[in-house]
Amino acid sequence: MGYEKKEQLYEGKAKKVYASNEANVVIVSYKDDATAFNGLKKGTITGKGAINNRMTNNLMRRLEQKGVPTHYVEELSERETAVKKVSIVPLEVIIRNISAGSFAKRYGVEEGIVFDAPTIEFSYKNDDLGDPLINDYHALALKLATQEEIDLIKKYAFMVNDLLKGFMKEIGIDLVDFKLEFGKTADGQIVLADEISPDTCRLWDEKTHEKLDKDRFRRDLGGAEEAYEEVMRRLMGDK
Ligand code: UDP
Repeated sequence: MGYEKKEQLYEGKAKKVYASNEANVVIVSYKDDATAFNGLKKGTITGKGAINNRMTNNLMRRLEQKGVPTHYVEELSERETAVKKVSIVPLEVIIRNISAGSFAKRYGVEEGIVFDAPTIEFSYKNDDLGDPLINDYHALALKLATQEEIDLIKKYAFMVNDLLKGFMKEIGIDLVDFKLEFGKTADGQIVLADEISPDTCRLWDEKTHEKLDKDRFRRDLGGAEEAYEEVMRRLMGDK
């Protein structure tokens, strides 16, 4: 049974979402467009859409096998995937194992400090406000999620961290930090949604500490295409 692409429902910074012939399934289509700094910096990373699609699906299938519920349904093509229709919980969930990015900046520390235990933080997913940091109490006050949903999201996020850290270690990569988004299905189940890719994770080569992620684009380091391809190549096992 194939899923048929119907009308476009939404266009985001890196993906488009289409309705399908099934009411509870939508089709995501990954673009090569890259943005950073809340959309201020714009560009293209050629081939990124296909890589992020296949990488996300590979990781979601493996997470699902290990007990993390996800929105993944079926890969349809190089750039397109059928996923469960969800309403996105407007919280960006960020897990960190090593200091970098806004953590290093906010607390005035260098990048590369390995934490004894992972940290978790939420941002309120709201472009107009610049995705401000938010805590559980604020999220409850704003009715962004219930306490039960927040507890489940935290549990799944730490499970994803343990599993993803392991998957990356197998291919010689340190998982520095990453962002997750969760959604709620029609029947109220909380599932992992969105993507897991070099757009949303900081990935450093364990030996050289070379950045293999979107920081190459954010910081104009060059070689973004090659870095995404390198992670994909290692993940798909054709070493
Ligand atoms: N991240 C993301 N989308 C965002 C913000 C952050 O995917 O809108 C990811 C980012 O790629 C990194 C992690 O979340 O892997 C932590 O990002 P950080 O808070 O350090 O913010 P940044 O330095 O990217 O602004």
